[in-house]
Amino acid sequence: MQYSSKDKIEKNYDVIVVGSGLAGMTLANKMARDGRSVLLLESHNKLGGFATWFKRADNSHVFDVSLHGFPVGMIKTCRKYWNKDIADRIHQLKSVRYINPQFDIETDFTKEDFIKVLVEKFKVEQATVDAFFLDLATMNFYDNSKMTNGELFEKYFPGRSDITRFLLEPIVYANGSNLEDPAISYGIVFSNFMSKGVYIFQGGTDLMISLMKEELLKNGVDIQLQARVDKILIENKKAVGVVAKGHSIYSKAVVSNSNLKSTVFKMAGAENFSPEFVKKTEAVRLNTSSCQVYMGLKKGESIPFIGDLIFTSEDRDFSTDLILSPKVGSQTFSLYYPEMRPHLEPSYAIVSSSNSRYEDWKKLSESEYKAHKEYLIERALSGLEKIVPGIRAKIDYIDAATPLTVERYTLHERGASFGTKFEGLDVSMNMHKELSGLFHAGSVGIIMSGWLGAANYGVIQAHEVDNYLSRLEKASV
Ligand SMILES: Cc1cc2nc3c(=O)[nH]c(=O)nc-3n(C[C@H](O)[C@H](O)[C@H](O)COP(=O)(O)OP(=O)(O)OC[C@H]3O[C@@H](n4cnc5c(N)ncnc54)[C@H](O)[C@@H]3O)c2cc1C
Repeated sequence: MQYSSKDKIEKNYDVIVVGSGLAGMTLANKMARDGRSVLLLESHNKLGGFATWFKRADNSHVFDVSLHGFPVGMIKTCRKYWNKDIADRIHQLKSVRYINPQFDIETDFTKEDFIKVLVEKFKVEQATVDAFFLDLATMNFYDNSKMTNGELFEKYFPGRSDITRFLLEPIVYANGSNLEDPAISYGIVFSNFMSKGVYIFQGGTDLMISLMKEELLKNGVDIQLQARVDKILIENKKAVGVVAKGHSIYSKAVVSNSNLKSTVFKMAGAENFSPEFVKKTEAVRLNTSSCQVYMGLKKGESIPFIGDLIFTSEDRDFSTDLILSPKVGSQTFSLYYPEMRPHLEPSYAIVSSSNSRYEDWKKLSESEYKAHKEYLIERALSGLEKIVPGIRAKIDYIDAATPLTVERYTLHERGASFGTKFEGLDVSMNMHKELSGLFHAGSVGIIMSGWLGAANYGVIQAHEVDNYLSRLEKASV
């Protein structure tokens, strides 16, 4: 059932899930299907977390915030842990383009095509390319390799900043990885994406989340929106429920899908963890944030097919630091043609995304903030004009979001759009060993981030919670 936001929930649950991102929802769905009683509490007025959308101009424009592309594995995950209807709506993007001063390339983003481009366009020996991909494919998360992304590229493609750009740029946009990050995180993310191209949910995020909500309710998950959890209740060193809007709700286990650091320091309280764990959590670095510009075409206007995802840059050389800076000349355009939402009146939407640092935006005065937003908007328009001349006159809605917008809507500290860096995974996975009954599921460690990573992490943690509940049941017999 869905509670109204005013209801005081008196029922006790096996598990309370705090937050309805893809990890929280997938975990809730799996546990309810497995027969557990589940309450899903979401602070926002809709489900989905970052998997979200918004409507503007009397609903004539719909914008997807994070539906730019995910790996093929999402089909299997949705089929197994959601339903066939949701899985069947996932389609491959036809054309991913790169346009920058070093090269202009179109690819379907499959491994085969990348190999072809590296050999034919970048003139790398086939044997070197094969060895590079073999190295990526055999990277194992549990290996303790210290190799960085920079070292990996230098090993196979010494001095080739164009190749580094080709291989790393999409990942930098996606999750703020840089040359100093462990090569393993790059290897796993890249191998995932590269196996069979980039995929998207046809029908839009709004349709996907509404289908997921239906499935959650069908499987017996109780849901309350506008239910921000302020505190995790702890008794005798065990998580036993939550406080939402001043009201206590009890459960045998609690799963936080909120930001890792907020979970430990704001909701549970550092005093409930060992000093070593607190130190480790403090040391976890959050990922960077995002800026986006949303553009909608006037009704009746159209543009030709120019690609689905376009990585553009006016910067001569590739630099991960530059990509994160507010004055960067790089941005990714995601194009949503009328086929994206065939059930609606034909419309075109374009979203420009760039990765950015929270601190660069937080320090701005009100007038500087406004000026920076205008710069973002102008950069998006002039970048698009180069690909589709005359498009400026066809756009009737445009607005920009910054890391401060992301922070406000998602409660993620510093507007982090892909959770934490690599070290967050260890803290997240071990939380329940520190504080019985408290689990974390949500974007951490790059590889458990993004639509697929988050959903899969929800499944992994659902198993952990289920084992915990089974142990409690055995102990009470
Ligand atoms: C701009 C942008 C673009 C992206 N593009 C892509 C992409 O193209 N492909 C891709 O795979 N991934 C993309 N991502 C990342 C992806 O969307 C996320 O990694 C994923 O959706 C995160 O899921 P999650 O389960 O970690 O939870 P989140 O989405 O972070 O959701 C957490 C939820 O918990 C709620 N919550 C938090 N605290 C509380 C509380 N105290 N009480 C109640 N509720 C609470 C929040 O309101 C939120 O709904 C993008 C992200 C951003 C920001």
